[in-house]
Amino acid sequence: MTHPAIRIEGLRKIYAGGKEALKGVDLTVPQGSIFGLLGPNGAGKSTMINILAGLVVKTAGRVEICGWDQDVNPRQSRASIGVMPQELNLDPFFTPRGALEVQAGLYGVPRAQRQSDEILAMIGLTDKAEAYARTLSGGMRRRLLLGKALVHHPHVLVLDEPTAGVDIELRQMLWENVRKLNQDRGMTIILTTHYLEEAEEMCDEIAIINHGELVAQDSTANLLGQLDGRTMVIEPASTPADLPQVDGITAAWRPDGTIACSYRSGQVTADQVIDAVRGAGISIRDVRTEQADLEDVFLALTSSAS
Ligand code: ADP
Ligand code: MG
Repeated sequence: MTHPAIRIEGLRKIYAGGKEALKGVDLTVPQGSIFGLLGPNGAGKSTMINILAGLVVKTAGRVEICGWDQDVNPRQSRASIGVMPQELNLDPFFTPRGALEVQAGLYGVPRAQRQSDEILAMIGLTDKAEAYARTLSGGMRRRLLLGKALVHHPHVLVLDEPTAGVDIELRQMLWENVRKLNQDRGMTIILTTHYLEEAEEMCDEIAIINHGELVAQDSTANLLGQLDGRTMVIEPASTPADLPQVDGITAAWRPDGTIACSYRSGQVTADQVIDAVRGAGISIRDVRTEQADLEDVFLALTSSAS
């Protein structure tokens, strides 16, 4: 039997005080994927992740982790997932090795099955194994949080904004680790990020949430594939009477007096757009093209008023 890594149905969260952070979200994360959860600040990403982690109690809905219903089989569902939280919540008096051992203990991993040395090596903290957490740099603490998420060998690893505000070196190290865990162990990875290029590069599939609602879920390739939208911006030599009217081309005035011709590069060629503009009796002084990227879909889907 194969289950999705995560199945979420009708997930709602209303915080004490009345804020509805999740408004009935359905989401399925396939096994073995690197899955990106994107959305602006306050969209509900951390709320969703903290519910998965068992750190926040949901108001309504169903959550299944590797086929285990969170309410019916809480122990198995918890054991299936490891979460690297957004907040740096380390006990300053633990050493990295101590923190990993305590975490393993909390998850009931027998001593013989603990892999603290391997994990320390993977996160590059072998030579800091016995240093107090309060003496570690911010980057080292983040790496330790990743290590803690891995002590119980979870099938699903969730990373909440792992690279927000970290330097390039640490970012690359995190992504290398994540790719390796995904490829070598088939671990499903769910990550939230603000960096769209990062999502584009790392993720097989992407979900976008906004104001507690899911506004898109698709493979990264499909999301980008929908983005063959182009806009050719024409600066006319003189103010024309009419805009071009040709199938597949949408022409509109811009406030600066240019004409924006939108088209899909799969259907219409740039030549055809130029011909259409000339055909409308417009002589062209200047022209440039604009291309859509993930940023555009993201903005289009999340720019509704708060
Ligand atoms: P994101 O991670 O996408 O930035 P969050 O899940 O942290 O979003 O927050 C979603 C909404 O819920 C926000 O409006 C936030 O202010 C609110 N929120 C988050 N945590 C709490 C809490 N503990 N109590 C009340 N409101 C909260
Ligand atoms: Mg968050």
